Amino acid sequence: MIIVARKGLTADELDNIRERVEALGLRTHISIGGTRTIIGCIGDEARLGHVSLLSIPGVDSVHPVMRPYKLAARDFAADRTSCVQVGNRTFGGEACLVAAGPCTVESERMMKATARAVAKQGATVLRGGAFKPRTSPYSFDGLKEEGLRILARVQDETGLPVVTEVLDPRDAALVAGHAEVLQIGARNMQNFSLLREVGQLHRPVLLKRGLAATLKEFLLAAEYVMSKGNMQVILCERGIRTFGAETRNTFDLAAIPWLKSETHLPVIADPSHAAGRRDLVAPLSFAAVAAGADGLIIEVHPDPGTALSDGDQSLDFKGFAQLMRDLKAFAAAAGRTV
Ligand code: PEP
Ligand code: MN
Repeated sequence: MIIVARKGLTADELDNIRERVEALGLRTHISIGGTRTIIGCIGDEARLGHVSLLSIPGVDSVHPVMRPYKLAARDFAADRTSCVQVGNRTFGGEACLVAAGPCTVESERMMKATARAVAKQGATVLRGGAFKPRTSPYSFDGLKEEGLRILARVQDETGLPVVTEVLDPRDAALVAGHAEVLQIGARNMQNFSLLREVGQLHRPVLLKRGLAATLKEFLLAAEYVMSKGNMQVILCERGIRTFGAETRNTFDLAAIPWLKSETHLPVIADPSHAAGRRDLVAPLSFAAVAAGADGLIIEVHPDPGTALSDGDQSLDFKGFAQLMRDLKAFAAAAGRTV
């Protein structure tokens, strides 16, 4: 249920509405937008049936949220897109933000070189996995705690916020102690205990779409995180499994505008994992920006031929610089900035 406040709502009226709803045992979430204020009510809505919400001063209208996801639904926020702050930049604002870096943290030297190279081209977030989910148990699965320490040092030194994956609920607090943004990978999109765990941390969550997840399941996964109090969720379309074998996954371009119409959460795209091939990263990036993506996450490696994971889809520094140049022109044509 959402309560839309009338224009000119005072702070006292807002407090009173909140107190009245919370007195019935529901939680509230206040969203103050450019033109309206919304009081989201979370919990047993049947209890609200016994009070006349419309008679509370400051209440303009009351609406049920007719979606299985509530907090993630578009109606729940006052503005079209909720902003998720990462460092001093905002996902969901005017600009399309770019996160870039290697699939895996391999050494401090390569992370520093990559951070410098991608920041110079305008990336605002550094990516790199310390805990890697690998299909084979015999593949390199990351430097783990040592990788986190490297990320934290590079984050401190360069000022570039870091996004890194958390694989296990037991490591969530540890990862949050080293990185600004917690990534939930495709393979864990429905790891409900992990979702609940990061929902209790005060860190933005970059949630990737599951390998074969419907968009409804994707939003319900976001709802798990949000239901624990953490509203800072960024959704990431990273391609899904289809019958095609020519690309690693099938980039679901329509997911971007569909999600943007269903949810207020920022939506970004990962063309690297969608394509699995570096030559397709640029065209898929352009398409994502045209479709309304709030950001991109791109794999970049100093020497992709020697990468410990996902080398085939990683751009080198020169390739990334070219992508960013071209992307700026595409974004400008779409009335956006990168
Ligand atoms: C990654 O970002 O390196 C990764 C493993 O992504 P995904 O979970 O989308 O496969
Ligand atoms: Mn990868």
